[in-house]
Amino acid sequence: MTKLTHLFQPYEFGFLTLPNRIVMGSMHTGLGERADGDSRMATFYARRASAGLIITGGIAPNLEGRVNEGAATLETGEHAKHHAVVTRAVHDVGGRIVMQILHTGRYAYHKKCVGASALQAPINAYKPTPLSAADVERTIDDFVRCARLAREAGYDGVEIMGSEGYLINQFIAPRTNVREDDWGGSFEARIRFPLEIVRRTRAAVGADFLIVFRISLMDLVENGSTWDEVVALAKAVQSAGADVLNSGIGWHEARVPTIAAMVPHGAYAFITGRLKKEVTLPLIAVNRINLPEVGERILAAGEADFVSMARPLLADPELALKAKRGDLASINTCIGCNQACLDHIFENKEATCLVNPAACREEEWELPGGTHERLGATQGAKRTVRKVAVVGGGPAGLAAAATAADAGHQVTLFEAADKLGGQFLLAAAVPGKEDYKETVRYFSERISRAKADIRLGTTAGVDDLAHFDTVILATGVTPRVPPLEGLDGANVCFYDEILSGAKTAGARVAIVGAGGIGFDVAEFLTHPENETEESYFEKWGVDKTYAARGAVKAPSKEAWRSPRQVWLLQRKPGKPGETLGKTTGWIHKASLKNRGVEMLSGVGYEKVDAQGLHIQHKGEKLLLPADTIVVCAGQESVRDLLEPLKARGIDVCIVGGAHEAGELDAKRAIAQGVRAALDL
Ligand code: NAP
Ligand code: SF4
Repeated sequence: MTKLTHLFQPYEFGFLTLPNRIVMGSMHTGLGERADGDSRMATFYARRASAGLIITGGIAPNLEGRVNEGAATLETGEHAKHHAVVTRAVHDVGGRIVMQILHTGRYAYHKKCVGASALQAPINAYKPTPLSAADVERTIDDFVRCARLAREAGYDGVEIMGSEGYLINQFIAPRTNVREDDWGGSFEARIRFPLEIVRRTRAAVGADFLIVFRISLMDLVENGSTWDEVVALAKAVQSAGADVLNSGIGWHEARVPTIAAMVPHGAYAFITGRLKKEVTLPLIAVNRINLPEVGERILAAGEADFVSMARPLLADPELALKAKRGDLASINTCIGCNQACLDHIFENKEATCLVNPAACREEEWELPGGTHERLGATQGAKRTVRKVAVVGGGPAGLAAAATAADAGHQVTLFEAADKLGGQFLLAAAVPGKEDYKETVRYFSERISRAKADIRLGTTAGVDDLAHFDTVILATGVTPRVPPLEGLDGANVCFYDEILSGAKTAGARVAIVGAGGIGFDVAEFLTHPENETEESYFEKWGVDKTYAARGAVKAPSKEAWRSPRQVWLLQRKPGKPGETLGKTTGWIHKASLKNRGVEMLSGVGYEKVDAQGLHIQHKGEKLLLPADTIVVCAGQESVRDLLEPLKARGIDVCIVGGAHEAGELDAKRAIAQGVRAALDL
């Protein structure tokens, strides 16, 4: 068992003791802007109070600084009263919480968008109005007022957001600061803005209030900061009065994935470790630290004093409690999918979590006890015990069985295959999605601990199910077979056969269907076998030697070399990949483009024969000389048991892909599974 001794060392600030080194990093939840947001946020953070320190989602110091027009600001005593509901709830269960002050600058999606200079961000339709010298002074005052009000609201401190390409970072980098007054030009003038904010905030809040400064360690955009400038800024921020430096990696406009699933675990801790040799302030390492073991490794290597785990605490509120007692098998691991957290925020929806649909809905989705211990937990109401059969051990069935068993029901889980996991076992085979197996491990563990009866290799029939009080049908999907001549050929296979390893593709592959799975299969087929963590940096042009400003360089063509030639096809017009996630779709598209995958839209399929795949494209007949044709044409629900069960009068509910195969997605499947069990 991994010993987590470093992770659970307390840290003493004099005026504040943190019991462990796990920081719940800042993330937007969308709750702050809701009518019932105070109470829901209070519950959300209180459930996560076993982390050493919580940093809230960003709150703007003024109207211009909001990310969008609906976003929250902290400008008045009245606003502070709302925050006090949150801080009280966290303190009542022994937690510690600081509020992030975020001025988005030129990343603001509204007309009042301002910036250091009138330079528009490539990811924003709004052009910023440059702040006048008087505006700069007023903005600093707004930061200070915000910090003072945060103290009044009961926070233990503030985090001043100086990275990710937001306003403060825009002042620091020559890329976005071309001012000719006292706030631009030389490095000293460009860093005056953050230094004045920190210095005046410290003077206003006193010594016994934590000031975390989030510093951009690698901008990952051209004309960002140099390493020497980062170090000089860190030292100056320390002198100005900060207590802790949090690491920032990459601007939002950077074309480098920094937190998505394909980023190796803890890949960016090295740069925090490099700064650690230069400053005496405690440092927080960030990005893709999704397992306690990864955090422990970083701390043990002396690369940081704390590790930030934001999405991992969304996925499992009790992560710190479970890690402390060494029970890593019971942790619900964040798989870095972004589907229910960041993608929701970008769609103006409340965040939740694909693997934990109760996240941000804690008051509505009260999960049964057992593995869901927490600080200040109370025992749930007693339920009537029911005999429940769950048919299918994919994500929906696993979630249903685990939740029902934890609630005390007598659960029998039937799975036709010899392993649990269903579609998630296939997903875990895709390079960059290895963490999906963690979800299978987590739910399987809960089911075993709750002593449910697991019957692998068992296809349940109606008679097997007749004596249960309720049947939850989670029988999943089967690949759709399109009406295409020649599909019975030896050169044709389906995506599940490729991802499971049952069949191997040749050197030239045509993929029929460019949905999420078509993209995954293309990634699987074009990925070289010998990729290392260094390949990630080479592929995306991250320069660990920091030779140029921003630590970027030209991506390595060699690192993108594909072992196969691949065509990815769809019948629809328009660019393939439009249905992929908002925050990850661009990465999948860029990845396949770099590997030379040829994407064709508006295709008409004619037939498959020994020569390959015959299609029509742009009015011409074409032969794609593929050795293998992989069908990824969506799925159809497997629900053969539904009507026979109903006909026998058996109480049945249907979840996941069996319920609806179109737009089949794991987020909906897991949420339906949990909900069905909670509603028993
Ligand atoms: P999908 O996204 O619905 O895509 C199915 C593809 O098959 C489409 O490109 C469709 O395009 C094509 N197709 C449908 N009927 C066809 C037919 N009769 N003949 C030929 N082509 C046909 O389904 P999926 O790729 O199986 O993915 C299922 C779900 O898994 C997704 O919706 C997603 O939620 C989830 N998923 C997501 C990701 C991700 O975001 N990275 C990865 C994997 C899975 P045309 O009709 O235009 O040809
Ligand atoms: Fe992690 Fe995905 Fe959950 Fe977000 S939705 S917290 S990325 S598992």
